[in-house]
Amino acid sequence: MAKIAIDAGHGGADPGAVYQGRQEKDDNLKLALAVGERLQNAGTDVFYTRTEDIYQTPYQKAMAANESGADFLVSLHRNSSEYPNQYTGVETLVYDNKGEKAEVAEAINSGLENIGFRNNGVKIRPGLVILRRSRMPAVLVETGFINSEEDNRLFDEEFDRIADSIADSILQTVAKNEDAVQEREEVYYRVQTGAFRNRENALRQQEKLSAEGYPAFLVENNGYYLVQVGAFRKLENAVRMEAALRENGYQTYITT
Ligand SMILES: [Zn+2]
Repeated sequence: MAKIAIDAGHGGADPGAVYQGRQEKDDNLKLALAVGERLQNAGTDVFYTRTEDIYQTPYQKAMAANESGADFLVSLHRNSSEYPNQYTGVETLVYDNKGEKAEVAEAINSGLENIGFRNNGVKIRPGLVILRRSRMPAVLVETGFINSEEDNRLFDEEFDRIADSIADSILQTVAKNEDAVQEREEVYYRVQTGAFRNRENALRQQEKLSAEGYPAFLVENNGYYLVQVGAFRKLENAVRMEAALRENGYQTYITT
């Protein structure tokens, strides 16, 4: 199961950008909790760098995400500019434009564009501590400008769709890639009790094992008839079975 770290940018004494009393840290936390809830409902493990209004440096956030063992990190922010209503739109920042993070960044931007935000693209920002110091693929989403009336209206009116869209973008890429990894790594352990040239001899051992209650199978391989017990997903279960078989006088070894 994939584990996603979600960082609500800023917090506590660091409000982030502020516009007419509206503080970025509050928007970030609200969105982080909403995205996390959706990821959890989809069966994903979620780690939050913060669930309250507390101060953390970007370095502390990155270290917390690393310690959580998460497979992916999304840091949620809102953008700002010098003058009110100067700019609008979303952008997603990445350490470099490669692999899973680049895929998720593109997906997040187009999802938010469909909701009505201007798409300002994926930006490469290797200097950002949260992107540089986190060990897993990471993206930082600037969810519209907090000093843009238009973006704030979208953020508030389309809040649920924004959370849905960011969660879906992560799930589609990270969950899909994780399935592929699991398929490649699917290994079964079997305990082999004999290898025979003669099929009858192999059958005799298999039948003896079956009569003793072991899940024994005959496998033909390179002119040999192998008698194997299993299969087991976990090596420790194969080891336990091997010990029992040895106690009953079988010569064994574990194979995959
Ligand atoms: Zn920010």
